[in-house]
Amino acid sequence: MSGNITFTMIKPEAVEKKETGAILKRIIEGGFKIKALKMTRLTKEQAGEFYGVHKGKPFYESLITYMSNGPILAAILEKNNAVADFRKLLGKTDPNEADECTLRKEFAESKSKNAVHGSDSDENANIEANFFFSKRERF
Ligand code: ADP
Ligand code: MG
Repeated sequence: MSGNITFTMIKPEAVEKKETGAILKRIIEGGFKIKALKMTRLTKEQAGEFYGVHKGKPFYESLITYMSNGPILAAILEKNNAVADFRKLLGKTDPNEADECTLRKEFAESKSKNAVHGSDSDENANIEANFFFSKRERF
């Protein structure tokens, strides 16, 4: 069903700081159901593909270096209105601009190291979910 899944990633610095449990707890308490979950690590090439839309931007090179620097926790989440509701829970890209009670307000270090990813559209949610998970890893 369209509109009910989104894709998220707990980014390397948050994994390194042992915040995966606290972040997943907030996500589950926020009403999202975990449909698939995987600890993995991106190569720089994979990070470049995942963030291909940002190629050419000043932060692109440092972004893909940072995102391939350590393990990440990837997940597919299910909820009605998943993409928009997860962006609400996530908060703005820059934690200084993020609302109180958002994941980025609580866990992000900076605009670049902002702890958690969230898809920005239903189309990208599907592309990103398929980037990380095969059909048999989803239910
Ligand atoms: P979001 O993750 O909120 O959807 P974007 O898609 O615009 O944000 O950017 C992807 C990621 O690139 C951000 O989460 C952040 O890690 C990094 N990023 C975005 N803008 C900047 C910036 N101006 N300076 C440094 N890093 C940035
Ligand atoms: Mg984005």
